[in-house]
Amino acid sequence: MPEYEIGFVTTEQDVNHCQPFQKPNLEALETPLRIEMALDYLEKSGALTGLKSIRSKEATLEDVFVVHSPYLIDTVRLMSDLGCGYLAESAYASADLLFSSLCAVGGALAASREILSGGSKHAFALIRPPGHHASTSSPGGLCYFNNVAIAVKHAMQDESIKRVSIIDFDNHFGNGTAEIFYADPSVQYISLHEYDYTSLGIGHYEEVGYGEGIGTNINIPLLESTSDSSYSAALDKIVKKAVMSFRPDIIAVSAGYDPHYADPVGNMDIDSRTFWKIGSTIRSLVDSLKLKGSFWVLEGGYNLFTIGPSIHGSLSGLKGESMPRLQDQIEREICEALEEGNEEVIERVLETVSPFLE
Ligand SMILES: [Zn+2]
Repeated sequence: MPEYEIGFVTTEQDVNHCQPFQKPNLEALETPLRIEMALDYLEKSGALTGLKSIRSKEATLEDVFVVHSPYLIDTVRLMSDLGCGYLAESAYASADLLFSSLCAVGGALAASREILSGGSKHAFALIRPPGHHASTSSPGGLCYFNNVAIAVKHAMQDESIKRVSIIDFDNHFGNGTAEIFYADPSVQYISLHEYDYTSLGIGHYEEVGYGEGIGTNINIPLLESTSDSSYSAALDKIVKKAVMSFRPDIIAVSAGYDPHYADPVGNMDIDSRTFWKIGSTIRSLVDSLKLKGSFWVLEGGYNLFTIGPSIHGSLSGLKGESMPRLQDQIEREICEALEEGNEEVIERVLETVSPFLE
């Protein structure tokens, strides 16, 4: 039995990378204040009581090579030396970029190693910059190195880890993570995200994987302004079923808090009650399937006042506590047409992925 139920990872050094503050731009919202404000709230609210505090160091460039091409790593290094410049859409450089990115990877690695070593059953890494939009050779969308993918690849070097499920609940489709594992039968990627059915971009439910990886990519493309109840239905009807069928050894979580109704970047309509439900669902999956544990890495979440309560919700669910009453939980109007639309989306996803599930 692990000594602790939950480990909480913060980086040893300050992560100072931030994108240019020319306004108006959304990139400036991915700021060091996200970590500071979240930590301040979590400490004052008592959400960290009883958790094991873990301080992580920066990763090495060799650690990053398990996922990324020399081209991407060299580009990040050179642009960081330059101290400014445009790498890709919503991905600008600063002088702190390389060091900050390596610190984020180091946090994700510390969380996964905590599970593998049996120190804690679950671990949460409060890190930035986020990673799930970074693919093998391309940064983008505020992401440079794919923290969760790198930690998963390292975890799989451990003999006891043959299969991993990644659950990504960030508002946006984790195109980088999906691409990295698209043909890999040993990694299941499940993403709940906002989807625009008028322009049909990537992240559609018909993208199910490739070659030996067919059936291991599960996209749940929800409508704009999706409510807590539709997220709940997607978790109960698809996520639980998919993970129980895949039977991973551990669960990795891309924890994005930008589907919060008050987030300035995401357009969904949920609050900390859904983030509690996600924590609770993952805890019960780990217990019922007798898995080694779960590790979580922070992705998005840009409202400085709701990121703390949102993470609080997840940690409470993961601890097995009943749903806490938090100040961001307010009653909001439910749109019946939207609920029906999402019911149909969930049915279509189930129809598409069921042939691959036992
Ligand atoms: Zn996002």
